[in-house]
Amino acid sequence: MSLAPYIPGEQPRDAGIVKLNTNENPYPPSPKVIEALKSADWERLRLYPDPACTALREAIAKQRHVDAVQVFAGNGSDEVLAFAFGAFFAGRSDSCGPLLFPDITYSFYPVYANLWDIPFKEAPLRGDFSIDTGDYREAENGVIFPNPNAPTGIAVPVREITDIAGLCAARNKVLIVDEAYQAFGAESVVPFINENPGLLTVHTLSKSASLAGLRVGFAIGRRHLIEALERIRDSFNSYTVDALAQIAAAAAVLDGEYYDEINKKVIKTRIRVEAELAALGFSCLPSSANFIFTKPPPYIGAPRLSALLREKGVLVRYFDKPRVREYLRVSIGRDCDMDRFLEICAYAVNTINN
Ligand SMILES: *Cc1c(COP(=O)(O)O)cnc(C)c1O
Repeated sequence: MSLAPYIPGEQPRDAGIVKLNTNENPYPPSPKVIEALKSADWERLRLYPDPACTALREAIAKQRHVDAVQVFAGNGSDEVLAFAFGAFFAGRSDSCGPLLFPDITYSFYPVYANLWDIPFKEAPLRGDFSIDTGDYREAENGVIFPNPNAPTGIAVPVREITDIAGLCAARNKVLIVDEAYQAFGAESVVPFINENPGLLTVHTLSKSASLAGLRVGFAIGRRHLIEALERIRDSFNSYTVDALAQIAAAAAVLDGEYYDEINKKVIKTRIRVEAELAALGFSCLPSSANFIFTKPPPYIGAPRLSALLREKGVLVRYFDKPRVREYLRVSIGRDCDMDRFLEICAYAVNTINN
């Protein structure tokens, strides 16, 4: 078997680097997370964790107004996604058509499809990089996309998503909406889970909850979907979420107030950076996420700006792929981080010959 694995963004060891390359939250996790970890009974680490993640799932259920049996918790949403590909898209007969996702999207989707040997088709985004949900109406073996999409940051209206979910359910297929960046400005489809038996949402604590290092993600869907995920997990490893992660994640989930506050700050900074980039002659796609997808003026070019930023200690993400080679994905950091980024962009505009 030949596998083409996902290539994660760099994690430099030098603390002086301004990291705008992997969409981590620039603000610390809730103080309640730190407290919960400090007051945990560490001696209990000799025991296996609760394989059902009961307290964590109850916390998520309370916060999202669903039932705990409609929640699945995993070791990062990447793991939840890996299980979901196996549970809902793998092992179909060749006659049932490909899994559909956008041509420009989270680059783990084709990796999981290949790993599980799932035929897939990439539906091209429109010229303005928005998702055309009309492309998914005929889906014969399910659909997955993030909302907002990555790396474009563009969100799809909820009504269009529930339409597709209904069509998938009518064919006994599943629509997965990856809400990794939902907290930064898109509407969630979680309130539509009960009326949509084919709708599964996937969530992560890595971005909006400032806990990328903890590795916790979860899915919400009707009970039969959650049971299918549990079957895959229990055929693989029953204890995917460790005991301390369960404690910290539950504390995070219950502190919505703190996270609303820091994520509002991220959104405010994003809006300011978009305006300042526009003034420098950069274009930005309309972002509902904690990153922007921006195109520097052609006389600078994305690869050159990316290299200049790196030389000056600022990491951003560049995808050398058709349609997006002119763009850089820039995570929203603290205001001082973004000032450093903008300063280098202005320097490029002023020094590179037009
Ligand atoms: C970051 C990201 C994830 C993965 O999150 P983890 O929970 O850290 O594994 C999933 N989907 C999308 C679209 C992401 O950008």
